[in-house]
Amino acid sequence: RAKDEGKNKYQIFSPTMNISMYKKFTLQNDLRKAVQEKNIFLLYQPRIDSKSNKIVGAEALARWKHPEWGIVSPEEFITLAEESGLINTLGEQLLYMACAQNKKWQDQGYDSIKISVNFSALQFLQVNIVDTVENILAATGLEPKWLEIEITETVVMENEANIALKLEQLREMGISIAIDDFGTGYSSLSYLKTLKPSTVKIDRSFIQQIPIDIENTEIATAIIKLSEKLKIDVVAEGVETSEQYAYLRKIHCNEMQGYLFSKPIASEEFERILKIGKCLPHTGVLTEDSSF
Ligand code: C2E
Ligand code: MG
Ligand code: MG
Ligand code: MG
Repeated sequence: RAKDEGKNKYQIFSPTMNISMYKKFTLQNDLRKAVQEKNIFLLYQPRIDSKSNKIVGAEALARWKHPEWGIVSPEEFITLAEESGLINTLGEQLLYMACAQNKKWQDQGYDSIKISVNFSALQFLQVNIVDTVENILAATGLEPKWLEIEITETVVMENEANIALKLEQLREMGISIAIDDFGTGYSSLSYLKTLKPSTVKIDRSFIQQIPIDIENTEIATAIIKLSEKLKIDVVAEGVETSEQYAYLRKIHCNEMQGYLFSKPIASEEFERILKIGKCLPHTGVLTEDSSF
């Protein structure tokens, strides 16, 4: 239609508007539909105890399979969801799915593990977020101690006192709080005090190149030592190589997560790992594509 009208005057998309803007506009509408139709799903990545290699948790990671664009990364669609006001609905859906899945695994008789769910900053601006979480736990029947909420430092920065209060209430319910991407934010260290996390997840950027990169190695070592003193569990994110694995064990990093063990995988594939109960390097599925 725009073409018929000529002179670009009535075109919705002018030739100077780039493909990414077009894509974004389309995606926002498609995302709304995907949320309504519940077409966004979760993959699960195992979290491993460094000493025993037992599976202690799973991180739920959202995926959207778009009919034309293929798999859209959560970095992209979570931002879209935030910009278009869909994040609260989507966040609730995903939390429900994750809790229900974990309860299902328990009911199937597997050893209980913690399910970790990523939260967006905006979700914490809802006055009733604590009630919402409580209701979802009640509805799915999952005990609070098997849920962990992951928040990034950037999430917290914006509204620290308000978020700290809500986290306190969630913690009092028995839910664990993890600081995600630890070390990349503005006041990482003070958050250890104000947010009283049960877990910190050392950002992948510090794990890369361990032990070759001396600075990264020292930073990771310091975070591990500090966490130990403060009785906070510490997880290394993005462990990819046997060298990183060996070194992280040596410096007593409690837990690990990364492609060395498994990429994020569909729930059925995760059950195969749950059956074994352990996850040695290369136990899991190493190509995410196989799960679609
Ligand atoms: P994150 O929470 O820090 O999640 C870890 C990311 O690192 C995941 O990317 C995971 O697939 C990837 N990863 C895990 N192990 C390795 C590794 O060994 N090497 C490398 N290179 N990457 C690894 P993903 O799934 O693309 O998610 C990206 C981010 O999107 C997440 O970072 C999280 O901030 C956000 N996100 C994902 N799902 C959700 C969700 O349900 N809600 C919200 N609010 N955010 C989500
Ligand atoms: Mg995370
Ligand atoms: Mg992270
Ligand atoms: Mg992240």
